[in-house]
Amino acid sequence: MKGAGSLTAVWESWFSSRGREQRIKDYLILSKKLVWRRQASFIVAAILSAFYFDPVRIIFLYGIVVITEFLDERLARQAEVWDGKDPVIGRAILIRIARNTVLSAVAICAFIIEIAIQQKTGGHFMSLFFLFSASVFAAMYNSQMIGILVLRLSIYAIGFIFIAFLDIVRYAPELNSPIWLEFFTIIFVLFFVGDMSLKFFRDYQLQLKQMRVIKAENRRSKAALAAKSQFLATVSHELRTPLTSIIGSLELVNGGAFGELPEKSRPPLEIAARNSRRLATLIEDLLDMQKIEAGEMVFQFNPIDANALVREAIDATAGYASKLDIHVIVVPCRDDSRIAGDRNRLIQVLNNLLSNALKFSEKGGTVTVRVERTDETVRISIEDEGLGIPKDAEERVFGKFSQVDSSDVRRVGGTGLGLNITKQIVERHNATISYESELGVGSTFYVVFDALTDAAVEEDDLDPLVEFD
Ligand code: ADP
Repeated sequence: MKGAGSLTAVWESWFSSRGREQRIKDYLILSKKLVWRRQASFIVAAILSAFYFDPVRIIFLYGIVVITEFLDERLARQAEVWDGKDPVIGRAILIRIARNTVLSAVAICAFIIEIAIQQKTGGHFMSLFFLFSASVFAAMYNSQMIGILVLRLSIYAIGFIFIAFLDIVRYAPELNSPIWLEFFTIIFVLFFVGDMSLKFFRDYQLQLKQMRVIKAENRRSKAALAAKSQFLATVSHELRTPLTSIIGSLELVNGGAFGELPEKSRPPLEIAARNSRRLATLIEDLLDMQKIEAGEMVFQFNPIDANALVREAIDATAGYASKLDIHVIVVPCRDDSRIAGDRNRLIQVLNNLLSNALKFSEKGGTVTVRVERTDETVRISIEDEGLGIPKDAEERVFGKFSQVDSSDVRRVGGTGLGLNITKQIVERHNATISYESELGVGSTFYVVFDALTDAAVEEDDLDPLVEFD
């Protein structure tokens, strides 16, 4: 009883240290994966020895090896559903691994010793080679659990020693006989296998340690990211409320609600209003980015007519376009242009693409917005005749806080966040965004959605199509 108690204590400590459950899982998953590779050499041994020696006994012993393989396979399947947490289940699995290891190693040894016994002359190269390959295999792939590895290798070592002594007992040779030479060589090989196993075990330990470091690092970065997002959200919220009232008040003052402004006060107040609006855009972008990062941006998918969507976005930016004296042309799609999407988010996407097209265009230029349908897609393209984007700038165009031209001579303002947010929203719609551009000629941005079919509407139970004029 005392023995059982101390064994339990060993297990308790074994399970209390981190990584043990991981080792059990690794061990079983790998054993299952490598079953055919492990069996390959035994199948060869069985075929060869069945041909040269007594096939009945060989096949019988090989059959037992195969049965132990099935036991391992069954255990691996059961362990797959184990979440790796409950130590009671872990302990039960460990006992079964130990039991299977003994059964399998004894069966392999019996099979190989039988070959050695049947081979009366010419040494035991074949049996020794197969036992050696089984040992190397165990050392390479069973190093997750040193106890189990030692158990298996100890049984193999008994096999090695048995074969080494077999001919010495059989023939009682002189010390200068090659039989003794074979015996000493086997002892040397045994040390080699032991040393190699230790090396694999140490490598595995190192690998586990590195994995733990990476996991801890990952946890720390996640915590830092969460803290940053929280900070950003709080600051942005706190800024947004007073800023909204500042913008409101400035607009009232500039609109003459409190009487005609003196000529001198007008320019600084307009600058103040413009900059407040830019600040508000930045805050909105920061809040959106934070929502996306935290996975908190909620999307409500409904059938949307892409033609109507484009029209709405163009109406929303019409004031900006006329201020910049840019002509906007719409080429709607004549076919069914329904897509599944979140209307407000898609308007945000189009507003961003349109305002970029306007912002980077020359005065008097033209921006063309097209909606096109292929068999399975609806494509919205926004083409401008503006500055264009240099080659290899895609990362900067879609990056965070990045602008292709961030120099002081940059004419137009912006946060460098718009297209990053746009891309993430587009991707949440299972759609793609890309562009073609040539410096000095213009740019075209494409957003490609899956076309919505009647069958898809019924299947997904989306709200009925809301037409927009
Ligand atoms: P920003 O707030 O600076 O407009 P975006 O993320 O919307 O940020 O765009 C990133 C960068 O991509 C812009 O700063 C600009 O350099 C480039 N870009 C985007 N759209 C166009 C366009 N239509 N023409 C030229 N450059 C563009």
